[in-house]
Amino acid sequence: MSGIKLVLKSGKDQSLMRYHPWIFSGAIKKIYGDPREGDVVDVYDNKDNFLATGYYQPGSIAVRVMDFEKRELDKEFYHERISAAIEYRKKSGVLSMPGTNAYRLVHGEGDGLPGLIADYYDGVLVLQFHSLGIYREKDTVCSVLRSLLGTDLRAIYNKSETTLPFKADTGAENGYLYGSADPGIVSEYGYKFRIDWVNGQKTGFFIDQRENRRLLQEYSEGKKVLNLFGYTGGFSVYAMKNAARVDTVDISEKAVRLAEENVELNFPGDRRHSGVTADAFKYLDNTAAGEYDLVILDPPAFAKHNNVLHNALQGYKRLNMKAIQQLKPGGIIFTFSCSQVVSRDNFRKSVFAAAANTGRKVRILHQLSQPADHPVNIYHPESEYLKGLVIYVE
Ligand code: SAH
Repeated sequence: MSGIKLVLKSGKDQSLMRYHPWIFSGAIKKIYGDPREGDVVDVYDNKDNFLATGYYQPGSIAVRVMDFEKRELDKEFYHERISAAIEYRKKSGVLSMPGTNAYRLVHGEGDGLPGLIADYYDGVLVLQFHSLGIYREKDTVCSVLRSLLGTDLRAIYNKSETTLPFKADTGAENGYLYGSADPGIVSEYGYKFRIDWVNGQKTGFFIDQRENRRLLQEYSEGKKVLNLFGYTGGFSVYAMKNAARVDTVDISEKAVRLAEENVELNFPGDRRHSGVTADAFKYLDNTAAGEYDLVILDPPAFAKHNNVLHNALQGYKRLNMKAIQQLKPGGIIFTFSCSQVVSRDNFRKSVFAAAANTGRKVRILHQLSQPADHPVNIYHPESEYLKGLVIYVE
């Protein structure tokens, strides 16, 4: 309840009626008042029926809907949503995974909190705010998190310098909002990982690949494994359990060192692992055909916007083609896309095109997605961003 009223064009209320939480600027007929970035707005249809409350933001996504009822976006609201996120994680087993103390606690639209990501690393929460509206409520969010997590929480780190739009105006700086903690070691299914939320990419670790890493372990026994785009070496550590050899490749030397450190933490002195600083495409070009029998392709998002979608699909095709070409007959590829704008169907088509170009026979063993702590809001298909295929190449 804001006093700022936003009316949608006739017919543009359809997606809201189906609980989609984004309002694009083109859907707006008239705004009564002069909302600034981050302000709360009440959204109405063309016949003056109330539709939703949300945060306003100039740009393509003009409103992020926080509720489809008329209500204050206050402490009670945040308490309700964050409690629901915790309850969901209890019920879905996220909080009782064996040997695991790292998981995503809040996943934006997936948890009814558009614009907020919260990753939990053994007592330290790393927050990423993606909209100014919710960023302004950061003190409320922190106080709710502290009261709900109690002694399970040692520190809250805000890492929103690069995620907030219009950064210049907010002057947001990364830093602790509560307590402080040195980057530490977390466990995932009993494996140890050093997490550096201050200097690492995103919140420091790609928690979203947890179940896929676990699946990889089932396939790595006795294999020569190539982990391209390895970052912290997540897939490499799991493969090391039983592989004959594991090579981790990343273009960033810092990432390669991190991967080596994580392998060393779990398999000290084990010479089956090597880290290589190289471009993944070039590395594949310089690899002898048949060198590897298990390859992981987990590149960064090739497309961040719809207008570069075509190039991104070409990128996935080129990468997968090279990997399929080089793979040993009877080998397996774990291939992923984490671009939100690339649909599951489009990703599959680019892997299909890649396979067709090589002429090799390819079967799909698994179609992979994101784990339960990265829930997909059924009304917001865009929240299903992680797509993977496990393919068998003859
Ligand atoms: N698989 C990882 C996450 C990958 S993130 C995990 O499970 O944690 C993407 C990684 O790709 C980053 O570490 C980035 O440094 C690396 N990268 C980006 N472009 C690359 C390129 N052309 N060749 C190799 N690595 C690249």
